Amino acid sequence: MAARIIDGKAAAAAVRGRVREEAASYEAEAGRAPALATVLVGEDPASQIYIRNKHRACEEAGIRSLHHGLPAETTENELLELVGHLGLDDDVDGILVQLPVPGQIDPDAVVAAIDPGKDVDGLTPLNAGLLAHGTPGLVPCTPAGVMELLRHEGVELEGAEAVVVGRSKLVGVPVARLLLAANATVTVCHSRTRDLAATCRRADVLVAAVGVPRLLGAEAVKPGAVVIDVGMNRTEDGLCGDVDFEAASAVAAAITPVPGGVGPMTIAMLLVNTLDAARARV
Ligand code: NAP
Repeated sequence: MAARIIDGKAAAAAVRGRVREEAASYEAEAGRAPALATVLVGEDPASQIYIRNKHRACEEAGIRSLHHGLPAETTENELLELVGHLGLDDDVDGILVQLPVPGQIDPDAVVAAIDPGKDVDGLTPLNAGLLAHGTPGLVPCTPAGVMELLRHEGVELEGAEAVVVGRSKLVGVPVARLLLAANATVTVCHSRTRDLAATCRRADVLVAAVGVPRLLGAEAVKPGAVVIDVGMNRTEDGLCGDVDFEAASAVAAAITPVPGGVGPMTIAMLLVNTLDAARARV
């Protein structure tokens, strides 16, 4: 059996189209477009590409984006001052500090300083706490994208066995909380999980967010499962996920490719969060 390929580009395009319409209505009502402020410290080439892509997506969606590029030697206090200033700026609805930041800056301190109402990455302690509490505020973009893909595919989550591999604050834990909120029965695996493949094989919905190229093969996939591969690993053969796509495709019912699966959803959900943050401030 060859699995259905879950088309993240198509799902993301649908979300972006919806945001474009809603951003236009917002602008008509509020008299200004929603606005996202991005902050990049240093000149990491990958981060520069991510920021450029986010700005392009904003522009296409009718969201204004403002960029603050700071030198690599910026101090933590200088960055905290800018983040505080953006929090008070009425013309800014969303704040995104591109991670990682240089070593002299504590990323947790910076994230914690972001106004939770403008925290479009959903990473502040308040938004993480609200998600844990079951009353989500702004939800991290990649986990929100995973849920949107599952919704777009019509995957039944109520009562389903879901296994999430990875327990990061950025992906694994928020995905697990969202799946739980959707009434799945959720297991979270990590580097100390004893028999990873056997645990994964229980999953009707398997989400891999590990960062190890092709860690999960056919032996980790239940026949007929839906497999969502969040991994983005650069290898000599190019970009690949945490799932062995060829092997898993022979067993799964549906699977996301890498690239073209979860990746496009992340930016789409950033646009959703920026619009939601703008609406919540009206
Ligand atoms: P992370 O912070 O490094 O977390 C990785 C998690 O995987 C940890 O919980 C770790 O367990 C677990 N892990 C590591 N090796 C393992 C193993 N052999 N068996 C089982 N679990 C293992 O990474 P992340 O930020 O969550 O990102 C995960 C992947 O998603 C990366 O490839 C990243 O590039 C990708 N990503 C993609 C997007 C996107 O837009 N598509 C966005 C964000 C991240 P411990 O907690 O025990 O160490």
